[in-house]
Amino acid sequence: MHELAIAESVIGAVTDKVGDGPVTVVRLEIGKLSGVVVDSLRFCFDVVAAGTGLERATLDIDEPAGRAYCRDCGDEFALEDPIMLCPCGSANLDVLSGRQLRILSVEVA
Ligand SMILES: [Zn+2]
Repeated sequence: MHELAIAESVIGAVTDKVGDGPVTVVRLEIGKLSGVVVDSLRFCFDVVAAGTGLERATLDIDEPAGRAYCRDCGDEFALEDPIMLCPCGSANLDVLSGRQLRILSVEVA
């Protein structure tokens, strides 16, 4: 459960940038391979945001699928979940994307 720490760092980063807001929308990109449980993050965000300029902010979360390259068969394919297996059965993969966690944009009232 590191969602609480993530919520705290997102809120800290946003308030560093925009001060006390009020912030209306925070857009995040959380790759499907990041291991972050989005529902849990939403819950933690609401808890941590209480009493800050982000209290009423809507969390808009984009969850792009990951991409991986298989070193055995040379295939490149989308990964939807953290179980890293190529369709050929190999686990010898390079993860190209999907672990990112970033703040895409913030809207202030
Ligand atoms: Zn393969």
